[in-house]
Amino acid sequence: MRKPLMAGNWKMNKTVSESVSIIKALKGTVDGVSDVEILICPAFTALYEVNNEIKGSNINLGAQNLFWEAKGAFTGEISTAMIRDAGCSYVIVGHSERRQYFGETDKTVNKKTKAALAADITPIVCVGETLKERENNVTFSVIEKQVRDGLADITLQQASLTVIAYEPVWAIGTGKTATPDQAQEVHSFIRKIYAQMYKESAEKVRILYGGSVNPGNVSDLMKKSDIDGGLVGGASLEAESFTKLVKYS
Ligand code: PEP
Repeated sequence: MRKPLMAGNWKMNKTVSESVSIIKALKGTVDGVSDVEILICPAFTALYEVNNEIKGSNINLGAQNLFWEAKGAFTGEISTAMIRDAGCSYVIVGHSERRQYFGETDKTVNKKTKAALAADITPIVCVGETLKERENNVTFSVIEKQVRDGLADITLQQASLTVIAYEPVWAIGTGKTATPDQAQEVHSFIRKIYAQMYKESAEKVRILYGGSVNPGNVSDLMKKSDIDGGLVGGASLEAESFTKLVKYS
């Protein structure tokens, strides 16, 4: 019922020409895949050229961030209209690196989520606990607050279209993956909270897992009933490994 989504987050990696060359390779290796939605989120500078390269293919384009204001004196920021114009249909919101290094809060995540939805761009809203929070047994309360505050006040229709990514901070870029059971436990909890907030939309919302997903662990993660795809950093940086993730089954 929920189409799996495999999303590559390239973070602050790759020049324009490097981005285009990986997309050229990827287009060939994922050609014909229709049972998994494929998404690449390059750096802002590469969006336009990558969009030209993916035309007519099954690869979708996303940005890694946005600002909620429409335009004006906000040096260094980028609006929904700008990322749409560059070809994006998705945007990552509230990645833990943005929360950690750039002061994002549930409040700003909520403003960005609403701005994306208002512009018909699908937000991928990231939530996740730190290692300290997991060790202090507050994982569920942390996740509940991030989901309730970050995704507050959207319409039921928008709630079904939104994507959530559960990314335990201790698993991002560390090589430590949550076990499929650990991830499933949090994913089903997120769906339960979402059902309290947005009723039947909870069955439609896709919840991705992120945190050191690789070709060796993807299929076991994807067997879990509430895991609807992956948000992938390191293993999305090469066409060969990302293709293995897209073709996980
Ligand atoms: C990410 O970028 O969101 C991520 C999960 O990174 P990695 O796959 O490298 O852990």
